[in-house]
Amino acid sequence: MPIKIIKGDITKIECDAIVNAANSTLLGGGGVDGAIHKAAGRRLLLECMKLGGCKTGQAKITRGYKLPCHYIIHTVGPKWKNGKNVEKELLGSCYKASLTLAKENGCSLVAFPLISSGVYGYPVDKALKVAVETIRSFLTENDMLVYMVIFDNETYQICEELFSEICSSS
Ligand code: ADP
Repeated sequence: MPIKIIKGDITKIECDAIVNAANSTLLGGGGVDGAIHKAAGRRLLLECMKLGGCKTGQAKITRGYKLPCHYIIHTVGPKWKNGKNVEKELLGSCYKASLTLAKENGCSLVAFPLISSGVYGYPVDKALKVAVETIRSFLTENDMLVYMVIFDNETYQICEELFSEICSSS
């Protein structure tokens, strides 16, 4: 299975690229974004300042600096409103754009957090479903290993169960 769910802190994962759930300024924030900037160091912020921000559903790439990954792919997830504001399409686009950038940069192991499921309020089950469906669709045509890195216990429990369900039903 080229997609795996693991529990942990994405800043500690050794891989080609980790994905950051950034905001549109790309200048750092809370949650996983804050943890990545803190661990990568100030040179990440300096590179991000040159990128001119990023639109929701799109992605931009930087070096990994002090992190044990070569690259950081910054993507901006949608804020959850009620599910009727193209949240699903935009979230799918985050995964697709990030994987495309990873491929263009020769990455074979990429780690994602569960984008939009924190401060942006996307329900965890729905966020995981979009993530897994989009990643699996990409992996049908591309040779890559993808980790979904889940940080907290409660989210991990939901994701682990749901992931087995999604996999056994398709
Ligand atoms: P968003 O604004 O896209 O919702 P958050 O950073 O608030 O982004 O949350 C996205 C997900 O990342 C949440 O499930 C949160 O628990 C998780 N998260 C927070 N810190 C880390 C970390 N160090 N590694 C992996 N996931 C993390």
